Amino acid sequence: MPEGNEVHRYAKLHTATFAGKTICVESPNGRFPGAALLTGRKLKSVIAHGKHLAYDFGRDRKLHIHLGRFGDFIEGKMPFPEVKGVLRMRWSTATDWLELRGATDISVYSEAQWQAVEARLGPDPLAPQADPGPAIAYIRKANTPIAALLMDQTLFAGIGNIYRAELLYRARQDPFASGKDVPEKTLNALWRDAVTLMSGGMEDRRIVTTRAKDRPHPKGKAQPEEVHYVYRRHGQPCFVCGTTIQRKDLAGRTLYWCPTCQAPKPGSNKPKTGKETVDRRTSETNGRQTKGQQTKSRQTDR
Ligand SMILES: [Zn+2]
Repeated sequence: MPEGNEVHRYAKLHTATFAGKTICVESPNGRFPGAALLTGRKLKSVIAHGKHLAYDFGRDRKLHIHLGRFGDFIEGKMPFPEVKGVLRMRWSTATDWLELRGATDISVYSEAQWQAVEARLGPDPLAPQADPGPAIAYIRKANTPIAALLMDQTLFAGIGNIYRAELLYRARQDPFASGKDVPEKTLNALWRDAVTLMSGGMEDRRIVTTRAKDRPHPKGKAQPEEVHYVYRRHGQPCFVCGTTIQRKDLAGRTLYWCPTCQAPKPGSNKPKTGKETVDRRTSETNGRQTKGQQTKSRQTDR
């Protein structure tokens, strides 16, 4: 699933290629009737918030796109390539084209509808003025495991499965600790690390989270199997301590962690049995434990 960094990359790229130009919008498979509302209009700007994109076509028309797990764009120079596969939307200017496949949502929103989406989302580490304060205050009171809280788009927008695992590893944080048991200092550090990692994390469209000194091959570019500390490395030894990386379902997605580097802090008063209960409940409710949050999160964390 594209995480916030990739969504922001698309916003930048599409602004550079298409903003200020008149766009011809089509729906080759007929599954995007909103195309008719946009075609022939000028694209003003592209906004990214977390994993959501909004293309502003003026006159209260914003094209909302959520790529979900399988959505992807392809761009190129005119003419269009031959239509292949299930093509939800394609658009073009005189010189460039864009294709969209597999997105979870593509709809024309009014300004008010887009504002409602933004209001539900938490601060985005890639937004220059984002304030993590309220989200951190919420986490400091939460019984939910920190690894589930990090995936909640109403708390932090844009963090997905790769970043949650890697941020927690880099902070040497036990992923099963309740939010309230994670020191404020660590939460602030997690946020700052998210800002750094998500701004600079792409190399050849790969997210790179390992520090060169920790890689088995520290010289030169990160090798494909050395770009992450824990994500999809279950069964393999930790680069730092050699312990076998573990995996487990948490908040509806697979969590990866190193039991040694991310061991529970001594003095954290969580009995082991209590932890087990929390984990089971988490996977059953798809990671939503806080009742009040349940409806809110389900709409946004798609
Ligand atoms: Zn380790």
